[in-house]
Amino acid sequence: MIKVSDELSLFARCVEAAGARLYAVGGLVRNGLLGLPVYDIDVCSALRPEAVISLCARAGFGIVRKGIDFGMVEVHINGKKFEHTTFRSDSYAEGGAHRPSAVRFSTTVEEDAFRRDFTVNALYLDVLSGQIKDPTGGLTDLEKRIIRTTSPSPYTVLSDDGLRIMRMVRFAAELYFDIDAETYETAKQLCGNLKDISPERIRDELNKILLSDVKYGERNPERVLHGLELLRDVGAIELILPELYLGRGIEQKPTHHLYDVLDHCLHTAAEISPNLVMRLSGLLHDVGKPPVNLRTGKMYGHDLEGADISREILTRLRYDNKTIAEVCFIVRHHMYDLNNTAKESTLRTTFGRWGYERSMEIAEIREADVHGSGIIKGEVKSADRWRELLKKMKDEHTPFSDKELNCTGEDIMRWLSLPPGPRVGDIKRRLLEHCARFPQDNTPEKLERLARDVSGAFIGTPPRTPLGAF
Ligand code: ATP
Ligand code: MG
Repeated sequence: MIKVSDELSLFARCVEAAGARLYAVGGLVRNGLLGLPVYDIDVCSALRPEAVISLCARAGFGIVRKGIDFGMVEVHINGKKFEHTTFRSDSYAEGGAHRPSAVRFSTTVEEDAFRRDFTVNALYLDVLSGQIKDPTGGLTDLEKRIIRTTSPSPYTVLSDDGLRIMRMVRFAAELYFDIDAETYETAKQLCGNLKDISPERIRDELNKILLSDVKYGERNPERVLHGLELLRDVGAIELILPELYLGRGIEQKPTHHLYDVLDHCLHTAAEISPNLVMRLSGLLHDVGKPPVNLRTGKMYGHDLEGADISREILTRLRYDNKTIAEVCFIVRHHMYDLNNTAKESTLRTTFGRWGYERSMEIAEIREADVHGSGIIKGEVKSADRWRELLKKMKDEHTPFSDKELNCTGEDIMRWLSLPPGPRVGDIKRRLLEHCARFPQDNTPEKLERLARDVSGAFIGTPPRTPLGAF
């Protein structure tokens, strides 16, 4: 029995008074039956949008006009939100564009069910009676843990709206379901329709696939890999991330790697911690290998080139600038001190320059990179050493940012009688670098002496030997 809130029951009673039945559909029913959390509530009935709006006005419910032409009205009751869509059947133009070219409102659950994508998403809960309607066989598929199109002809469902191919993979990943063989083969055949989908929509689905393990549960590399491999096999990676797909078949040293470059990237993304920047970085970290390998027969410089390619990919998929900058930084530096031979003082200077969070991210990608090779599973010495050092630096109150430095730009200008300008920033950076090695010098008195030293040396070229501690 699926529990519904008092607000949803109240809404259903109002819909009944208006002469219709209110059904919950989508995530609420599917996840309710699976015992998984529900994040948004989709409901539907035969009531037209205008009828829903006037019902809400009479009952004092809030509304947001979402997509009246598509029958959608958002209803707010006591702070709870319901997405109401009038029963409809949709038609689509040629190509795989996401939006229907024509929408016809209908009056039955049966008709409505077949305009939906997958059977497990087309289960209807009669809110008042608690009865479930299942026009497409979703209950059996839920039991078998299978994603299958609502219509027995997957071709129609998947060719109508190319986004459904991404959604198919996303649901399979989030729920850890398999895909029905015919649905899957058809998706493979129609994958080219993804070209008609906006980059933003593709990006959003890709993000959900990358974070599919933590939608309902704990971090789980196998689940993420399940989604990424489906994405690869159905042909979507080749289409949306062709630069990454070039890694297919590029073998690497068998002593270090079990997989080709493409699969290594998928494994690395799956191994890394569950946040979007890290997962994207894992996915793209070796994207520079195919072109560099083609040109030189080696992999040297793939980190630099990979950062440039990552920027192109992420810009094309309309990621925000902050995400792009962070991912490119990680891709750029993922080869740092590969042999784990850097001296502590060198590591300190580097980490001081990068900052604490970014340094931790580089440790993280190193670990996932090694684990993603499929050969080593246990500890990764360099990453462990870096984390240990970073912890030590934190314990020593090392300043990792301007804010943590015990002086301001104004102090520096006053001490050195400098006008505002880039030199102040340069000096600050030098002070930070110094304090990364000698955190005990982060006091106003010592920083003032140091600033005088640094500025004197700074008029010409910066000193080659690092400044010692006081
Ligand atoms: P989630 O838990 O991610 O919200 P959901 O199943 O509720 O899962 P939504 O994207 O909220 O997914 O969509 C609600 C319902 O609308 C789906 O279950 C499905 O029946 C239908 N739907 C959404 N997008 C599409 C689409 N592109 N094609 C066909 N049906 C769709
Ligand atoms: Mg939903």
